[in-house]
This record gives sequence, structure tokens and C-alpha cells, in this order.
Amino acid sequence: MDRLKGKVALISGGARGQGAAETRLFVKEGARVAIGDVLDAEMRELSEEVNREAGARVTLPVRLDVTRAADWRAAVEACEREFGGLDILVNNAGILNVKGVGDTSEEEWDAVINVNQKGVWLGTKAAAPAMKKRGAGSIINISSIYGLIGSGGSAAYHASKGAVRLLTKTAAVEYAPFNIRVNSVHPGVIKTPMTDIFAEKDLDAIAALAPMKRAARPEEVGYVVLFLATDEASFVTGAEYVVDGGYTAV
Ligand code: NAD
Repeated sequence: MDRLKGKVALISGGARGQGAAETRLFVKEGARVAIGDVLDAEMRELSEEVNREAGARVTLPVRLDVTRAADWRAAVEACEREFGGLDILVNNAGILNVKGVGDTSEEEWDAVINVNQKGVWLGTKAAAPAMKKRGAGSIINISSIYGLIGSGGSAAYHASKGAVRLLTKTAAVEYAPFNIRVNSVHPGVIKTPMTDIFAEKDLDAIAALAPMKRAARPEEVGYVVLFLATDEASFVTGAEYVVDGGYTAV
């Protein structure tokens, strides 16, 4: 309890999956959370449910398409206006396309790069001035094990997630003088709507490549994100946290 007391967080892609798990964990630890997503109904429902459980307005749904700079500015303004500032940004929104280099169309390439890569840059750029005003901040960028290693497909996804890894490190250097920490998290196989596109036996087969031989629950990533958001991680910046059941250890 209270590991995030008094803090305000903005979680992109917060309406479902890992973002929703982080919303719940952050609120449990005393934060107020702006849920930024393009899924209007889902984020409103989640926000109402969490507020009802907490008996207070601890979350706020914010329409946020991460590819649009104007949406980011409005989301940060909403955090400042409704919750008094911004301390934590989780750049979690992402989309997956499993096609390889040869099969990916230019439109598909641009769509993945815009959300997964450009979206993280725009979010960081929009959040940093608000964090500077607070004198501190924590930005957590959700990359993937696919930002560390290759596979036979998912070309645009690999390219975007690899870019997030290094954008994280350069932003960590740029913002360290302002006490804003920037770290990346690299999940392995996690059971969320994103992986629902795979048949259960196919997902099990991919998960079995990890020594722990299973997919993770969203909360198992969420607890690592939570740690990075707290002041417990006060000397952690520019780091990459792998949460993959050992997938990349072999
Ligand atoms: P998910 O599909 O359940 O959640 C992704 C969220 O991002 C959704 O709420 C979606 O509406 C939102 N989103 C998509 N495009 C957006 C946009 N333009 N603007 C704002 N929001 C947008 O999947 P998830 O597993 O919870 O994914 C969370 C993050 O974790 C993603 O960045 C994903 O790439 C990454 N990841 C997932 C896995 C996995 O196995 N599930 C593994 C490694 C990394």
C-alpha cells in the first residue's frame, strides 16, 4: 500500500491487457491514473469500475491516439488540470503485426512504427515538461523481448520495439539532470487480447520456448512496471528489464 501515494500516472493503452493491470496496481498503491486509449467504451468502463471500488475519482479516461501530438498535449493537460500534475508515464500502447519483411506492406509498416515507436517519442516529449515542473518523474517504455532478439516474422514490430530500447537510453541521458528516470520493460509471452490472435496451442508452443514454459499474467509485468514507477527505483535509469520466464536466457 501507498508505494505511489500522491503520484499521478498516465498509462497509454491503459484500457485493457497489461495497461489495465497497471492501472489497477497503481491505484492500489495510492496513485491517481489517467487511462489513455482509443477504446472509448473499455476505458470508460474500467475507469468507472476502479473509481467505484476506490470510492473516489482515482482514474480518468482520456481519449489518446498515441500517434497524435495534439492528443498527447491534451492528455498531459488533463492530468495537470484534473489531478494537479504528472509524475509517471507508462508508454504501453502497442500493436502487433506478425508478417515478415517480404510480406509487410508499406501501410502495415507505417502503422506499427507510428504507434509503437513514434508514439513513445511523442509521449516522452509531451510528458517531460510536466515532470520538470514537479522536479522528478519516471517514464516506463514497454518494449518486448522482440526488441532484444529476432524471430522469423513480425518485422515492423521488431524494428519498433528495438527502437524503443535505444530511445529509452538516450532519453534517460537527456532527462537525468531533471531527475526524470527512463527505463524499458521487455515482456515475453503475456496472456492479453494482443495474444488472443493466436490459437491456444500455438501460444502454448511459443510460451514453451521459455524455460518457465508458460505465458505470464499481465500483473507479472505490472509489478515490475510498478517498481520502476516508485521512488524505490530512484537510481534506476536507462535500464532494460526483461520479464520473460527466461525466454532470452537460452
Ligand atoms: P493489448 O492489445 O491488450 O493492449 C494494447 C493497448 O494499446 C490496447 O488497449 C489498445 O487499444 C491500445 N492502443 C493501440 N493502438 C493505440 C493508439 N494508437 N493509441 C492509444 N492506444 C492504443 O496488448 P498488451 O499485451 O496489453 O500490450 C501492451 C504492451 O505490451 C504493448 O506495447 C505490446 O507491444 C507489449 N508486449 C506485449 C506482449 C504480449 O505477449 N502480450 C509481449 C511483449 C510486449
